[in-house]
Amino acid sequence: MRQSNNSGVTPFLRRNKYLHGVRQPVFHHAVSSLKNLLLRNIAPAAVYTGTLCNSLSRGELPMARTLIALALAVCAGTALAQAEVTLTRLDCGVDAKPREVTRFSDTFAFPDLRLTFVFSCYLIKHGNDYMVWDTGFAPGSNPNAPKVSLVEQLAQLKVTPDQVKFVGISHYHGDHTGQLGSFLNSTLLLGKGDWDAVNAPKPAPGVNATAYVHWTKGGGKVEPLSGDKDVFGNGSVVILATPGHTPGHQSLLVRLKDKGPVILVGDLTHFHENWESNGVPTFNVDRAQTLASIERIKTLAKNLKATVIIQHDMRDVGKLPAFPASAK
Ligand SMILES: [Zn+2]
Repeated sequence: MRQSNNSGVTPFLRRNKYLHGVRQPVFHHAVSSLKNLLLRNIAPAAVYTGTLCNSLSRGELPMARTLIALALAVCAGTALAQAEVTLTRLDCGVDAKPREVTRFSDTFAFPDLRLTFVFSCYLIKHGNDYMVWDTGFAPGSNPNAPKVSLVEQLAQLKVTPDQVKFVGISHYHGDHTGQLGSFLNSTLLLGKGDWDAVNAPKPAPGVNATAYVHWTKGGGKVEPLSGDKDVFGNGSVVILATPGHTPGHQSLLVRLKDKGPVILVGDLTHFHENWESNGVPTFNVDRAQTLASIERIKTLAKNLKATVIIQHDMRDVGKLPAFPASAK
């Protein structure tokens, strides 16, 4: 259907159509303009596409559509290829002394094992956007807490909290949510099961509901996720639903150009011995879900040939470059 439109791009189209007297310059210019728009932003490109179609006669539409589809495919590929993705580990604490891990097995698998847990947070850079994954302990909150806050570590990377578009939380425990309050302007991405738990009138033991107050009181943007979430819409950073440790527990897949896919497993498992034996901690909310989630991530990692990083296992810290360096 033809209709007039005052959106600003139409006059340019009319100029081309009527000044040149032939249609080709319109298409040529349209394709290059679409490319420029797409590289900046998808939204104006979509508006432009609609405007272009409205300004053409019925006979011209099929050809225009083909050209636009080609331009979209080529330019979308270019835009995605340009979004560099990096992954940096941030220190969010370390056990002051080794802990005995008996309660991390509901089959009494580790009567004598002692391990020093680390508490890991991560910064993901996607083009000009940033995402923080997990926020650890708050400095000074306990003997295992980090000495340097996330905000200070980000400052060393020349990133401010306001630049952090998304804060993804694997689950609601205190050692993953201690510095959530540093990212009040970020969109909170958490599992819906966890969201429901932090909003319960009397949150269950282990639910660090106070960390979420800014969002539960309606002060911040939040996306409670019922399944996976492709964070930037191009498959490079994907939250994976892995319930069981908590109702809304989730892991994170980050696909890096040089290093390949990396999976940050949250507390899907806490250390290698449990990962290898499909061990389930005594305090997980759902044993069957935990096993299903472990099976899912093991299979996914095998299929993608991904590097699995167990966030609490000190032996996995070296799988990423030491701060401030990042994996690319
Ligand atoms: Zn946990």
